[in-house]
Amino acid sequence: MSNVTALPHNDASLLYANTDFTQLNWLEVQWATWYLWIGNPILATGLMSFLLHEIVYFGRAIPWIIVDAIPYFRKWKLQPNKIPTAAEQWACTKQVLFSHFTVELPVIWLFHPMAEMFGMSTWQVPFPSWQAILPQVAFFFVFEDMFHFFAHQALHWGPLYKHIHKIHHQYPAPFGLAAEYAHPAEVFILGTGTILGPILYTMFRRDLHIFTMYIWITLRLFQAVDAHSGYDFPWSLQHILPFWSGAEHHDFHHMAFVNNFSTSFRWCDRIAGTDNKYRAYRARLDAAKKAGLSAEEYAKMEERLNAEAEREGVEAEKIAENVTWGKTKVQ
Ligand SMILES: [Zn+2]
Ligand SMILES: [Zn+2]
Repeated sequence: MSNVTALPHNDASLLYANTDFTQLNWLEVQWATWYLWIGNPILATGLMSFLLHEIVYFGRAIPWIIVDAIPYFRKWKLQPNKIPTAAEQWACTKQVLFSHFTVELPVIWLFHPMAEMFGMSTWQVPFPSWQAILPQVAFFFVFEDMFHFFAHQALHWGPLYKHIHKIHHQYPAPFGLAAEYAHPAEVFILGTGTILGPILYTMFRRDLHIFTMYIWITLRLFQAVDAHSGYDFPWSLQHILPFWSGAEHHDFHHMAFVNNFSTSFRWCDRIAGTDNKYRAYRARLDAAKKAGLSAEEYAKMEERLNAEAEREGVEAEKIAENVTWGKTKVQ
């Protein structure tokens, strides 16, 4: 009898006392094995959540670093003359890692006890079915988008902008790594939109598995990194789903400082009219395209419109920064 293959004798091994492992799929077996191997469910969930976040975030940003290094892709760059330098990307990475370790790590560590308190499944196998997962993930997308739409606009209010959100606006032409380049307080405030949906869902329905939440967080990270990529390809998702925001929508927010406050979808800004400048800009570019300009003329026109939007953005930022409690400060 070999002890090497025996299950570790700890609390976790008791979790699966009544589980028939032959009925599980490969991923479910790996899941249970992880909890058994770590031995402590709080540590197992915390570590897995943090690793998932780091691997997905940086894993998704790396292809964009490569794309930025290849001139062939410039024709799809939204602000073609603004390629991030290696120094900018490194400075951004350091700030992102700082936020991850100071804000996200403690929050993620607290997540397991919080999830269990609200009745979310963590170590349990088997996983829920796809029919259960898909509508839940769709709900989290819609909830986060609306939460972000309001919270992001609040962050553009003078005192909050100056002390918190200004860091995220350091790059008028964002790049993948800059998705979470933000003040730790902003990571916390906007991150709430990502985890509040699942918490509310669990409170009311009590049938959410953390595996579903991982799928949601993975997709949300893809959305955030891609929205900051600075590229709009003919095959980008927004050309397939017209209500999807994508980089083309969020890039304008960074360039012009105003408009386009939501994350995944276009409808909140459309309904609230906070996309008026963006649509006027788009209409001018589309008209230029229809007018049959040469590629060179179109590029010049685009550069001029971008410079104009950015100039207006700098002014709008100054005005926002001068707003103090209850009034606009006149310089
Ligand atoms: Zn903003
Ligand atoms: Zn952004």
